[in-house]
Amino acid sequence: MSWAAIYSRSFSYRFPHSPVSARVSRKLSTLSTPSSQRTKRSPFIALGVAGGVAVVSAFFFWPDTSRSAPTYKDATLSPSHFTPVTVLASEQCSDPNTRLITLGVPKQSLPSLSQTSFSPIWSIFIKDDDIQVERTYTPLEGIDSEGRMKFWIKKYPKGEVGKWLHSKKVGDTIEIRGPLMTWPWQDDIWDEIVMISGGTGITPFYQLLHHTLLSSQQKMTKTRFTLLHSSRTPHELPPADILQPLLSHAQAYPQDLRVTLYVDSLDETTTQHPDLRVSRIGKPDILSALGVNDRRRWWSKLFGNSSPSTLEKNKKILVLVCGPDSMVAAIAGPLGRNMSQGPVSGILGELGLNEEQVWKV
Ligand SMILES: Cc1cc2nc3c(=O)[nH]c(=O)nc-3n(C[C@H](O)[C@H](O)[C@H](O)COP(=O)(O)OP(=O)(O)OC[C@H]3O[C@@H](n4cnc5c(N)ncnc54)[C@H](O)[C@@H]3O)c2cc1C
Repeated sequence: MSWAAIYSRSFSYRFPHSPVSARVSRKLSTLSTPSSQRTKRSPFIALGVAGGVAVVSAFFFWPDTSRSAPTYKDATLSPSHFTPVTVLASEQCSDPNTRLITLGVPKQSLPSLSQTSFSPIWSIFIKDDDIQVERTYTPLEGIDSEGRMKFWIKKYPKGEVGKWLHSKKVGDTIEIRGPLMTWPWQDDIWDEIVMISGGTGITPFYQLLHHTLLSSQQKMTKTRFTLLHSSRTPHELPPADILQPLLSHAQAYPQDLRVTLYVDSLDETTTQHPDLRVSRIGKPDILSALGVNDRRRWWSKLFGNSSPSTLEKNKKILVLVCGPDSMVAAIAGPLGRNMSQGPVSGILGELGLNEEQVWKV
């Protein structure tokens, strides 16, 4: 099974879940063993299953084992068991349906952060202890040496875990397991990465950009990034903690990062702003992000060649898309059966991009 199939099988990022996929994923992630019993299991079992690449692979191949994952207070953070962590902060954002939540992993559970499993893009499972279900969330800046992880988390009107997380107070304990690889960033492969996100779908892209551009004085890659992000209204845009570092970096180093923000409509309090486009992310926006000049495109079309991938044949480009199902479908085509990637269609398909050039995160 390819990495792509493994990732898509377990960790496809869809906002929000369709009713069917929400029901299926709730069923899959229901934890069958009561937490009190799980905490009493021998730590030797955890040590036995925690180490080694083979066992990590087994985790990916048999994600159902997570249903009975035990909880260990003193073992290192791992995908194979839950670790209790503390809520360090929970701040309401301008969109009242979203909060910035910071969790703290206790010292005794802090793993070696040099592990490749902490390379972007990774996420963790958070368990809703009331109803024994787990959902995946993306630490915006990864994890720091003190064990802190910050998340931007949305609650949905009928969603379960998001609402439960919003109700947690500073000092509360919750259980997490991970890290889980969402998509494997590799340095020095791509000349251009274009990221297209909607809503909280920006979180994996923020983590990637934080790792490659924002967290270091020196640029760590040859890749040039473009982020096209869309929210419904200005007040639903990501909070300043996310947007400010991105916009400042884009302003200082336009050769490394370009950011364009889109909203479906303005709200009463926001007036038109030059950095904010009131429209959906469309074909011209994506063409321009890919560096395809329209004149060349029409010239090429005359000769039967309209594909940006062939126009830029010496350039290695990748488009990552993450957001609500409907947005992903319109831009890159729907995910396939069993959360596989599915063929590239939508706008990117019309532009001639192929499976190697598009990833639905
Ligand atoms: C790799 C990965 C990383 C992620 N990172 C983040 C992140 O950083 N931040 C973030 O906010 N989210 C993130 N998510 C999404 C997150 O995991 C959850 O899917 C999301 O929070 C919704 O979970 P929930 O339990 O609150 O809602 P669910 O109960 O799963 O419901 C989700 C949506 O479906 C609707 N729904 C559910 N059941 C029904 C039904 N029966 N009928 C009609 N509608 C229904 C709900 O109203 C809601 O709109 C990530 C997902 C993945 C896979």
